[in-house]
Amino acid sequence: MDKTTTDAGNPVSSDEHSLTAGPGGPNLLQDVYLVEKLAHFVRERIPDRVYHVKGFGGFGTFEVTHDVTGFTKAAFLNAVGKRTPLLARISLVAGEEGYPDTDRDVRGFALKFYTEEGNYDLVGNNTPVFFVRDPMKFPDFIHSQERRPETGLRDNNMQWDFWTLSPESAHQVTYLMGDRGTPRTLRHMNGYGSDTYMWQNAGGERFWVKYHWKTEQGVENLSDAEAKAMRGADPDFHRRDLHDAIARGEHPAWRLEVQLMPYADAPGYRFNPFDVTKVWPHADYPLIPVGRFVLDRNPTDFFAEVTQAAFDVANFVPGIGPSPDRMVLGRMFAYADSARYRNGANYMELPVNRPLAEVHNYHKDGPMRHGLHSGPVYAPNSYGGPQADPRYPDASWSFEGGEIVRAAYEAHRDDDDFIQARMLYRDVLDAPARDRLAGNIAGHLGDGVERFIQQRAIDGYWSRVDADLGRDVARRLGLAVPAMAG
Ligand code: NDP
Repeated sequence: MDKTTTDAGNPVSSDEHSLTAGPGGPNLLQDVYLVEKLAHFVRERIPDRVYHVKGFGGFGTFEVTHDVTGFTKAAFLNAVGKRTPLLARISLVAGEEGYPDTDRDVRGFALKFYTEEGNYDLVGNNTPVFFVRDPMKFPDFIHSQERRPETGLRDNNMQWDFWTLSPESAHQVTYLMGDRGTPRTLRHMNGYGSDTYMWQNAGGERFWVKYHWKTEQGVENLSDAEAKAMRGADPDFHRRDLHDAIARGEHPAWRLEVQLMPYADAPGYRFNPFDVTKVWPHADYPLIPVGRFVLDRNPTDFFAEVTQAAFDVANFVPGIGPSPDRMVLGRMFAYADSARYRNGANYMELPVNRPLAEVHNYHKDGPMRHGLHSGPVYAPNSYGGPQADPRYPDASWSFEGGEIVRAAYEAHRDDDDFIQARMLYRDVLDAPARDRLAGNIAGHLGDGVERFIQQRAIDGYWSRVDADLGRDVARRLGLAVPAMAG
């Protein structure tokens, strides 16, 4: 049996009794184990993520199943059969650590590949699109989903106020209010990179890429009523399900498929391919199979391996890079900044974050540093320190010059905030799914939202997605049917 010790490894004589001046006397300051225990206890928390707070993670392996060397030189993708260790963290967006898992929400789908060329992090969601297309609006969007400053309560009024004043959100909100807003389990949903990235092959040829993770368990959802009932029955239902499935050897798996757009197609494409509120219709850019990953190991220490895990959109490997997608570029600042705030400047030294590839640079010191640095701490130097290699240039693209501005993306031929929500409603959902969508919208919009915002949601939002949908939601809420939908 292991002996209890202080953090210094010194044996202690009791797990239950503090040191006192006689059985009836006061506690003594020299009880270093008690002092250490209490002092450590009050320091157990680190700052939460600002959003995506509640998540669950697992470890596994990614394996290449199809040859994609014509599209990217990324080493972890360069041979069929090649395997790379991976960490996945799937999370709620809006709720805190104790929040019910089955609430209607988008789920984060974050992957960390420990590749031979360093970590590659692909941080996406379970939806192919997003609510906003400019990082300037991101904090406002999240604030509208959080708790009100005055009451500490979440508030549908804020959500619908923001959404209906941000028409670019219509596609994502349609997706969220549909069946996929309440996945049955974390295993029964797809993941998407959502944003657009760049691939580059060994010959220097560039492609724009979108990632799709197709669940091998099949897509399954809870009904709105089932999801609400599960809030009380088991608020940790999704976390428990994923943990237990992995523990009993029912290892969940997802296939990676990508859409690839030749570099030169972007300016003339009918949708702005860098607008994360839009998909690339499959008919335009079909899915190409790449590989699959399996989760087969639960974390040993949830805090050390999931809470402290730091995913960073900016962790790219050669052959993969960002694109002009503004959300990607904004996110490239925010993730490392968040990790430094939460865990300090040396967060990449934590075992879950540390790459398998060797790390060499001239950073030094800082809180909790434990990597040992004995070489030169400046560059250039004459003593054999690491040297940057110009064969690894940053991903690059050219753009039309012009003034520095604050402006919307230039619209492409078919760009419109409602067109793809309409495609989803009309072409993908069947009649019962359309009915459930209208019911879910009416239920959410009818819950604590002011009348003028409800009417704006009918007139300026859902009727523009589809006149029938606007009419249907208006009828359920007893609102005026807009003239255009009448
Ligand atoms: P397709 O008919 O080729 O694809 C439609 C896709 O919709 C399916 O492949 C499936 O994607 C997804 N889907 C199926 N049922 C639902 C549902 N209940 N809720 C949300 N998504 C569902 O058409 P397009 O590619 O032309 O896209 C039409 C619309 O489909 C888009 O406007 C978008 O809203 C939605 N969609 C498109 C995706 C894309 O990348 N092109 C991806 C997901 C949705 P999956 O196999 O990924 O589950």
